[in-house]
Amino acid sequence: MSSQPAGPEIERLIQLLARLPGLGPRSARRAALRLIKKRETLLLPLASALAAAGAAIKVCAQCGNIDTRDPCSVCADPRRDRTLVCVVEDVSDLWALERAGVLGGLYHVLGGTLSPLEGIGPKDLNLENLIGRAQAPEVKEVLLALNATVEGQTTAHYIMDRLHGLDVKISKLAHGVPVGGELDYLDEGTLAAAIRARQPF
Ligand SMILES: [Zn+2]
Repeated sequence: MSSQPAGPEIERLIQLLARLPGLGPRSARRAALRLIKKRETLLLPLASALAAAGAAIKVCAQCGNIDTRDPCSVCADPRRDRTLVCVVEDVSDLWALERAGVLGGLYHVLGGTLSPLEGIGPKDLNLENLIGRAQAPEVKEVLLALNATVEGQTTAHYIMDRLHGLDVKISKLAHGVPVGGELDYLDEGTLAAAIRARQPF
């Protein structure tokens, strides 16, 4: 007869850790054990950091970014170029572009891509907000920085159709983004080159 080697609190910790990206059951057990062994210096500080983040997280009503303030720190930053709105799929892409540090404009986070197969339509994304933002007089350019995947490009074309006729320049990332590539995995230099060499859509 097999039994759980650890109590239910520890099993629960392992189960939750195993749901994190990049961690399977085996690495979740290792992570849990590390946390338990470093109770004072890692486990308890992590627990309070998780609780604090859980209580403080806000979604920016303007751009969809995740921060602890609304408007987010990007939207609230007066040094940002408000003529440029860069459209990304996810917050991870926003973070990647910020790491590259070449944009200086504002963002719009869609929260995913159109995917008829998975039943994700325009209403499931932060899209209507974008159409509204693109009509603001200060916005001169919408940069579609979507992943070079089928879904990303389908979404880019949909947005282009929706923005058609508006007095706004639509651009996309240039070379440097490999086909099938996800922005979050690119190095900063590649991202920076793709932004500088962006082209009209
Ligand atoms: Zn924002």
